[in-house]
Amino acid sequence: MKHEPKLKPTGWDALVAAAVLLLALALGARFSLSGAQSGARCAVVSVEGVEVERLPFADAEREYQNNGYTVHVRVTPDGVRVDRADCPTQDCVRTGTVSRPGQSIVCLPARIVVTVAGAADEGVDAVAG
Ligand SMILES: [Zn+2]
Repeated sequence: MKHEPKLKPTGWDALVAAAVLLLALALGARFSLSGAQSGARCAVVSVEGVEVERLPFADAEREYQNNGYTVHVRVTPDGVRVDRADCPTQDCVRTGTVSRPGQSIVCLPARIVVTVAGAADEGVDAVAG
């Protein structure tokens, strides 16, 4: 048997893939760690009282449909707001942007709640009482 020329690059590829994977994992771990430590805020979206998604405060748009209504949520580095909704009350839209941990936007007709989550020590005062 001659030696297989294909073995070498395959092994090398696996090594590179492993290194990239490790790097990605390390970056991801560091990111979530620093996030937890600095109390990075995020928007917690709940539908029917059940948490469905956590959105970090970075530019993003999401649409949630429930109970026959559509709520369009926009997240920015500054906070989160309901851009538009087809609910009859429009309270969620009028709430505007919320950014402090503990603040929330409620759409009663759609039964969707967007709450700002952050560092535990930040939100205690606002939640108390
Ligand atoms: Zn609404």
